[in-house]
Amino acid sequence: MEVIYKFFGRRRFLSNDYKTAVAYQGLTYENAESAFQAQKCVERAYEFVGLRPNEAIVLGNTVELRKDWDKVRDGVMYEIVRCKFVQNSKIRRMLVDTAGREIVWSNFCHENHFGDCSCEKCADIKGENLLGKILMMLRQEFIDGFLTTSPHSALDFSDNVDYRDDYYFNAFSKTAFVRNEPFAVNRADYPDEE
Ligand SMILES: [Zn+2]
Repeated sequence: MEVIYKFFGRRRFLSNDYKTAVAYQGLTYENAESAFQAQKCVERAYEFVGLRPNEAIVLGNTVELRKDWDKVRDGVMYEIVRCKFVQNSKIRRMLVDTAGREIVWSNFCHENHFGDCSCEKCADIKGENLLGKILMMLRQEFIDGFLTTSPHSALDFSDNVDYRDDYYFNAFSKTAFVRNEPFAVNRADYPDEE
């Protein structure tokens, strides 16, 4: 089976770093990574709104980790990655288009739980690749009917628009965009790495 290892170039959308609005539990983040990091300390989740992925990781490493994090983090990852694709019809179709290929998040940051690190030190470690498994699971879910039935989400962040005026956005997330920055999805902010 053909395997997708690299989440960049035209596969950039598979990465949690990909810039697309993700609404989760009342807040709207700029990317799935920020939404995930925010769950480490729910009381401070609003601080992750508007952050870039690398900024969110730094903050996520300094907040007081919720006590049940090890128990909930896999479920949180599933929910957030699901929100990302449920709320953006364009990348949902791109995910479905990868059908028939295995998805492995190959990384160099020693992340062997959600992915599989390809560095020399980790050569003997077989990563669990949980993110890849979640992506494949969601893909199957979408193939099995999500795309052909009525929308499951009122949100669709796939267009290049300013969501601050969006009725659903306002209904879902009153505290988002505390920085009051323009939010048009700008691909140039996250240039492809290839
Ligand atoms: Zn490594």
